[in-house]
Amino acid sequence: MAVTAVWIEEGCIVCNACETTCPEVFKVTEDSCVILGEVRQDGETSENRDEKNPLKADEGDDLADQIEEAAEGCPVEVIKFELDD
Ligand code: SF4
Repeated sequence: MAVTAVWIEEGCIVCNACETTCPEVFKVTEDSCVILGEVRQDGETSENRDEKNPLKADEGDDLADQIEEAAEGCPVEVIKFELDD
């Protein structure tokens, strides 16, 4: 199972939990959290909310467990992701 895309919905409270769990993917800023360009196919760093740009295949595979753990650990449940089957 791989994560194909991950994004941040509105409402991040900048608690840093996701970056602690999976710093390869999540970077907490002053007012939100972003998905790092290093792991995205488009190379852009943003919340990825509208574009839902896919993760690079290797990253989505290797980091799937950590991304899911980060989503489960988000206190306001704004980390969303899609899985392949
Ligand atoms: S865990 Fe959730 S609330 Fe905390 S910084 Fe990450 S996205 Fe924001």
